Amino acid sequence: MELIHAIAAMQAVADAARDKGKRLGLVPTMGALHRGHLALVREAKKKADHVTVSIFVNPTQFAPGEDYEEYPRTLEADVEALESIGGVDVVFAPSAEEMYPFGLPPFATVGVRDLGRHLCGAFREGHFEGVTSVVTRLFLACRPDIAVFGQKDAQQLAILKRMTAELGFGIEIIRHPIVREEDGLAISSRNRYLNPAERKQAPVLSQAVRSVSKQVETGERDVAALIDAMQQIVASAPLARLQYAEIVDAENLQPVETLQPGRYLAALAVFFDGTRLIDNTTLEIAQ
Ligand code: AMP
Repeated sequence: MELIHAIAAMQAVADAARDKGKRLGLVPTMGALHRGHLALVREAKKKADHVTVSIFVNPTQFAPGEDYEEYPRTLEADVEALESIGGVDVVFAPSAEEMYPFGLPPFATVGVRDLGRHLCGAFREGHFEGVTSVVTRLFLACRPDIAVFGQKDAQQLAILKRMTAELGFGIEIIRHPIVREEDGLAISSRNRYLNPAERKQAPVLSQAVRSVSKQVETGERDVAALIDAMQQIVASAPLARLQYAEIVDAENLQPVETLQPGRYLAALAVFFDGTRLIDNTTLEIAQ
């Protein structure tokens, strides 16, 4: 496994692998790797024969006042974790100067328009433009054929799918389901910030999305009623503070009032003190 910091070196390794007829896979991460990330890496290994994991805490996707400075940076442990599962060819860990050589904020960005108006986008100013702009740079540096992203960040995934199709990157975007702890809590690098009392109550997020799925299965189609149920479940945890609970069309990410046949996303964000957690589920309504 090679550790690469420079874009030019990354491109040279990618081109050499492609020349050998290899199919290139990329798993973009911000490091502090956990079981969720490693599941994405395993998926990439199934779908590609040369796998790069990028580790880059991207400054442009943190809004002012968010946890950019405090975000865990654990490169050595991350490299060890990737070594131990095997099958990863490259860890691409560029510096901020390498990724943004003309300084911050960058001039060349990719806008997200309406896809960033709801869910997390309504609360995280500039976050998704930061994501599209860094993933574009990672695609150009790593030149993958496929890239794996987690359903945990469902809005990010929908935006990146649209961006990749619209800009004609020719990269297949692969969706990996949410990896959870035994009690349902979606695994996240931010879970480590929870104190024991908060950790105990954190499964309210997964309980809320599971409750929506169950109600939809039993015929509920009224979005206000489904959102109300999510809000009530979160309110049952005294340490939880709901930021949003929303149901949107899974493609265009716009709110709906009733569920017609189609695909939707039920998602929420909850604060435990300063720690912000998210969860979601996809809802499929058959014809
Ligand atoms: P991050 O390092 O948090 O930016 O995440 C890197 C990638 O891992 C993103 O595509 C995330 O959606 C994905 N990811 C993080 N946590 C999970 C999880 N619990 N289950 C599935 N994918 C995840």
